[in-house]
Amino acid sequence: MSISTSVSGGCQCGAVRFRVERLGRASICHCRMCQKAFGAFYGPYVDSVGLTWTRGTPKYFQSSNLVRRGFCGDCGTQLSFETDRWEPNIAIGALDDPRLAPPEVQLVFDAKLPYVDGVPDVPHRPQGEWDQVSDFYEAVVSYQHPDHDTTDWPPQSPPVGDDPQGDR
Ligand SMILES: [Zn+2]
Ligand SMILES: [Zn+2]
Repeated sequence: MSISTSVSGGCQCGAVRFRVERLGRASICHCRMCQKAFGAFYGPYVDSVGLTWTRGTPKYFQSSNLVRRGFCGDCGTQLSFETDRWEPNIAIGALDDPRLAPPEVQLVFDAKLPYVDGVPDVPHRPQGEWDQVSDFYEAVVSYQHPDHDTTDWPPQSPPVGDDPQGDR
């Protein structure tokens, strides 16, 4: 498989970048360890084949006797779930295009947080509240690595035009 058809990703700060030859089944895991690792409601992972770290290497937390979780030691982004038994799972949000990995299965369903199913119905922020904070967010200059490979990082000047709306 040529590199042009592989899938790239990396951490928020750009110190760790990776490529995988291909993605497998995507999942969300409700277990307490995934909640903690991501600081989130659940852990989104996708099976991968042919993982290569293309810039830097992750740090690891051995979260159990059988599993180690890779993350960026500089910015803390979760990157991988690795065992001796199968190829690494990749954190879906770390992909440059997370749309490539829509979840197909939910794991450890009995540990699901009770409000997760209600999230789509949570109201959007009212316009009046946005008006009070919009000057702050409109002044934000993103230092996040862009969603594609770069030859040099960090750049000499901040990237222009690479920060999608909503970056913090
Ligand atoms: Zn990082
Ligand atoms: Zn889990």
